[in-house]
Amino acid sequence: MNKRTLSSIFAALILTMVLPSLSSAHDIQLAAKEIRKMPLVSVTPSIYVIHGMLSLPTNDNGAFVNNPGFVIMPEGVVVIDPGSSTDAGEILMEHIRNVTDKPVVAVINTHVHGDHWFGNHAVRKAFPDVPIYAHEKSIQRLINGEDQDWFKLFTRLAPQAMASTEIVRPNMGLKGGEALDLGGGTFNIIYPVEKAHTDTDIFIEVPTEKTLFLGDIVMNHRTFGSRMNESLFAGIEEATRIALDRPNIEHYVPGHGPVGGRDMVEHALKFVATIRASVKKHYDAGETDFEMKDKVLASVDEYKTWYGFDELGRAISYIYLEAEAQDFESE
Ligand SMILES: [Zn+2]
Repeated sequence: MNKRTLSSIFAALILTMVLPSLSSAHDIQLAAKEIRKMPLVSVTPSIYVIHGMLSLPTNDNGAFVNNPGFVIMPEGVVVIDPGSSTDAGEILMEHIRNVTDKPVVAVINTHVHGDHWFGNHAVRKAFPDVPIYAHEKSIQRLINGEDQDWFKLFTRLAPQAMASTEIVRPNMGLKGGEALDLGGGTFNIIYPVEKAHTDTDIFIEVPTEKTLFLGDIVMNHRTFGSRMNESLFAGIEEATRIALDRPNIEHYVPGHGPVGGRDMVEHALKFVATIRASVKKHYDAGETDFEMKDKVLASVDEYKTWYGFDELGRAISYIYLEAEAQDFESE
């Protein structure tokens, strides 16, 4: 093999190494453009939400996988769950600037999961002193190292989309039951149960707008997410009933999936209540989780187009364990 052949092989090798990364960078730019076009949805004249993707974070979806929202109050803007990456948070900030010149005066994170707080960084870049609220258990868990776990997970799934993201933890602890005065208006913080989607979930009620932010306790067109191992399904059902019991609410903002009215929350309640009742029935009949799986899935067939339906086998196993634990407690 002469030198020339060697060098052309070498050049071809370099090209095959470089080209895929060039084309994926191009794809990512395209994806970023598409994500910027995701519409800002007006829930009320003062409340806006962007419906993020229902899937897991990837470079293609720009790690834009939650529903960031904001509330325009008389003296400032309150941001709720500002996105799943700094880039997503910056898209949200751009939208905020397009509809108001009021400053962001507070951020609230509904729970500990990274897709709901990585965008904090974007808000702090623009408003360095902005307080970021979350349940005190969220803050403690993040300080204990879950912030890094989430960062590693998201960086593995969506390295380019997460490249500019830095960890900015919430810094104002809540217990639930607070009526926060933010931007000249009231935000009621509700910690509905000790454990539902996680043990850190809060609802945020904006009474003047008749709106309730539900975090991931209620999701729409999405089953239970990928973190079912830290959920209590009995708690999800109970907390969803508590959401429906709040008086004078007309608009409900789920953590993932489209915003809706009471019927959306009732539909989500029916999902968790039906799957729990079905597992319990087969458990009482002495069946294992494996034996009951197809029958339980048939009971919630109307949700089969929801994202994550194919992962419900895991949910059935967890609900089965809850039934077993309840049996054990009542003995
Ligand atoms: Zn979550």
